[in-house]
Amino acid sequence: MDIVITSGKGGTGKTMLSAAIASLMGDAGSAVCLMDCDVEAPNAALLLKIPVKPVDAATVPVPSVDTERCTGCGACEKICRYNAIPVIQGQPLVLPELCHGCGGCALACPEKAIHEVPREIGAIEEGERGTLHFVGGRLNIGEAMSPPLIREVKRRYYGSDTRIIDSPPGTSCPAVTAADGARYAVLVAEPTPFGLNDFILASQMLRALEIPLGAVINRDGCGDGGVDHYCLGQGIEVIAKIPQSWEIAAAYSRGEAVEHLLEHHRDALDTIAETALRGAARCS
Ligand code: SF4
Ligand code: SF4
Repeated sequence: MDIVITSGKGGTGKTMLSAAIASLMGDAGSAVCLMDCDVEAPNAALLLKIPVKPVDAATVPVPSVDTERCTGCGACEKICRYNAIPVIQGQPLVLPELCHGCGGCALACPEKAIHEVPREIGAIEEGERGTLHFVGGRLNIGEAMSPPLIREVKRRYYGSDTRIIDSPPGTSCPAVTAADGARYAVLVAEPTPFGLNDFILASQMLRALEIPLGAVINRDGCGDGGVDHYCLGQGIEVIAKIPQSWEIAAAYSRGEAVEHLLEHHRDALDTIAETALRGAARCS
């Protein structure tokens, strides 16, 4: 069962909750996998203090042109939606950073002048603690193409009963790729006007993906009741609230946020885990 933990805006505490819930399930003996799909800022393993090691390189296939065969017909340029292979003065110029690795140009080339070569975009990392398995992606610095790496992370591990997916924040391709296929989404919100704006966008994204969702309000008490009112109006269950707390912030800065949540906010974590598992089971 895939449960995605996501948020409309960054800094809501989504990764902290993902790590705490995976830890809770792992400590209870469940075969759980935490998948860090926030590949531009992967820090779930750090929060859990799980040592990880790179196990594989993640690559995307990009075209390589055989200039002997190429006639400069332009069919490759015409089919590419990403302008990744312009033909300049009869010569195709591959722009690897723009290429999405769809393979269209190789299929379209009438001269069979294109073959694909792998381009490294990042690494897959894995680690383990008891029954908790960790797999995550680390995007290379300066790399823009995160969805293929996120897909690779999600393809990696299928041996767990439950997979907790720590999504990148937002509503663009990386967040959609991370959430796609999940059976339930926990949408973490900050109770501020900015938080509400991004919460609305993210809830609309999840509904477009037909993923049932519930909300967790983090830093409850720091803002207004806008997220509560929106959830009420939209029929979104507010699963739990984590209070605005100096102790949590201090524990986070010491790298002990997960331990603090497990010790002082166990009831909220239990409720989130149970609701998410129930919601995912209903969707099976
Ligand atoms: S593989 Fe796809 S995205 Fe890449 S250059 Fe060819 S057509 Fe464009
Ligand atoms: S489609 Fe093939 S032959 Fe035509 S320009 Fe591209 S690489 Fe050259």
